[in-house]
Amino acid sequence: MIEVDGSVGEGGGAVMRTTLALGAVSQRSIHIYNIRAKRKKPGLQPQHLCGVESLAKITNARIDGAGLNSTELRYEPGPIEGGRYHVDIGTAGSTTLILQILMPAAAFAKGPVELEIRGGTDNPLAPPVDFMKNVTLPILHRMGYRCEVECVRRGHYPRGGGVVRAYIEPVQRLNAIKLTEPGKVTRVSGLAHCVRLPEHIATRMAHAASTALIKAGYSKVNIKAESYPPAKDPHLGPGTGITLWAETEQGAILGASSLGRLGKPAEQVGREAAETLVKQLRTGCAVDRHLTDQLVLYLALAAGKSEITSAELTLHALTNITLVKQILGVEFEVDGQRGQPGRIGVEGLGFVRG
Ligand code: ATP
Repeated sequence: MIEVDGSVGEGGGAVMRTTLALGAVSQRSIHIYNIRAKRKKPGLQPQHLCGVESLAKITNARIDGAGLNSTELRYEPGPIEGGRYHVDIGTAGSTTLILQILMPAAAFAKGPVELEIRGGTDNPLAPPVDFMKNVTLPILHRMGYRCEVECVRRGHYPRGGGVVRAYIEPVQRLNAIKLTEPGKVTRVSGLAHCVRLPEHIATRMAHAASTALIKAGYSKVNIKAESYPPAKDPHLGPGTGITLWAETEQGAILGASSLGRLGKPAEQVGREAAETLVKQLRTGCAVDRHLTDQLVLYLALAAGKSEITSAELTLHALTNITLVKQILGVEFEVDGQRGQPGRIGVEGLGFVRG
């Protein structure tokens, strides 16, 4: 049984997700303690608990100690089964963070995995579903990962009610990837949405983001607005947000997003996302700060030498690197300081589906 201190580095939910996902793929038992010790409310919250339970189901695992607020659990994985799974977080908790814990295991399942997850799709401190679809998955696709995500209905804090479906085809193994020199930006796309709110909120966000991007020197900008007439709005809402993604000559995709809230002008939401994207593009790096931490586990499993330049080496990314070393014995080379742009490289394990 591998012993993992959940308070390491970032010390939040991501430590637990990365640890158990790695345990699932490598079929190693895990004892994790101090779960989310660095958070105001430590221990497993509904979204985390739901992630653990769903992973246990897909991997035929024995779990001991998983309950609301628990700070310690044991996980003993079994064979990873394909099939259809329904996951209901029961709150507005993030559906994409459920995907984050399940996706590595699902890639190496015995058959295709179909997931329907209910909860939030556009949450603070989690990947918006549009980021997942337009940044994370296309880059993982280049590594051989095959997953399609469909947002059936959006869900926002506090009411939730979102529905996301994912279809994952298993792979034999993942390929290494090189994303170091992005080249010029070829286009910037985006989606500004609002639910249970007037249409002009989405169009104002889209317009403000386009204006900021054009002012910053990007000419091919296409940001769509998504809204629903009150009589045909299926959401619980209200909620609003914008996700942007820039594609480059060399196949890099960098994303940024911002969420709206009551009292925050739509223009500010749009500008914020654009400024975050521009700041990261100006580093000349090929991977944005969030995708960096999301890729670490896949780079460690892939066959061959991967190398990426990152717009920011976050504590999340560095923590994942530490966990991968502890659990898989895979060592990354890291060039750069925390909070700064940097470069990471790794000779992946070349993990093969058993
Ligand atoms: P906790 O409540 O303990 O902080 P958590 O389960 O909510 O934990 P984190 O540990 O903060 O999650 O991990 C959040 C994950 O969401 C990370 O992978 C991070 O990169 C990703 N993420 C956060 N914000 C964004 C964003 N705006 N766009 C894309 N990804 C994001």
